[in-house]
Amino acid sequence: MLSMGEKAFRGDQLFDGITMGKSVSEISNIPKPLKEKLLETYEDSAAQIVERLVSSDGTEKYLFRLADGNVIEGVLMKYKYGNTQCVSTQVGCRMGCKFCASTLGGLVRNLTKGEILAQVLLVNRLLGGTLKERKVTNIVLMGSGEPLDNYDNTVGFLRLISSPEGLNISPRNISLSTCGLVPQMRKLTEEGLSVNLTVSLHAPFDEDRKKIMPVANAYSIREILDACAFYFEKTGRRYIFEYTLIRGQNDSEAHVKELVRLLSGRPCLINVIRLNEVKETGLISTGETHARAFIDKLTRAGLTATLRRSAGADIQGACGQLRRKYLANPTEIRAGREEEYES
Ligand code: SAH
Repeated sequence: MLSMGEKAFRGDQLFDGITMGKSVSEISNIPKPLKEKLLETYEDSAAQIVERLVSSDGTEKYLFRLADGNVIEGVLMKYKYGNTQCVSTQVGCRMGCKFCASTLGGLVRNLTKGEILAQVLLVNRLLGGTLKERKVTNIVLMGSGEPLDNYDNTVGFLRLISSPEGLNISPRNISLSTCGLVPQMRKLTEEGLSVNLTVSLHAPFDEDRKKIMPVANAYSIREILDACAFYFEKTGRRYIFEYTLIRGQNDSEAHVKELVRLLSGRPCLINVIRLNEVKETGLISTGETHARAFIDKLTRAGLTATLRRSAGADIQGACGQLRRKYLANPTEIRAGREEEYES
């Protein structure tokens, strides 16, 4: 504001308005001429909510349209302790994981830190949250995209969302999920942000991991484990491994044994996920009974493993599914939404 020849307090007004999820033109205490001047250079808002689907289990799925017309998605999960929002960090993804819908069309572009932030601010506003009483209490960077492949914007977002003048969400309530970009994991460790580091492991053998995650050709499991140990040493925070069970790929006795060998004694949790089937991939989910037995074996061997609650299956809950459906046929999604509201 000072550089535009305006008073500094206008900066606070703009910051507060945007943080409350408003577009520039909606901020009532900014004079019209100043709004016009701002809109010559800046977008009115970083994103808009274009669809909201509500699942029978209460989970909500959102589609956001960015100023350039790109579409991204997010999920809101309701728990007793608060609401967790899952946000996207990229339009598409270039990591190429074989089971994931977000990567099917490749990477379109990185999101700016403002676009990552806008997803939370818009949902918080829609739920009636304010700066003081936020309705989004926890965040998981588990939407479309690889957060550490968009490093500066992801870290910029983490600083904005945890800023005391902003929504003030503590890094302890934020989980960052990565497919295992080792150099960026180490760089993140040095940032002094104590987020929950979550790593998509999905296989305990490098050879198996390479079959489902191309990134495994660049970094070995050993390097990932070392980077996690470094994170724990610097932050004192336990880390989490995600393990998506895929039938016949990573769910055998040998996989259990190797997981136990690799992870015993480490300050980590294993979050087992049953594959959310994406029809283009041809991969099939491990059955629920088998999944529970898999977890039981890990637990009996002394590891801490839990099954991730599956939510929102009726509203394309998995990464990238809704965006793909929307791009293929926008009207079908709208019809689906109306049915949701009626029932
Ligand atoms: N790029 C980050 C965040 C992605 S999504 C990462 O790779 O961790 C969050 C988690 O969902 C990851 O563990 C990812 O591997 C997993 N995932 C993606 N598609 C899935 C699917 N169809 N079923 C189950 N889990 C999936």
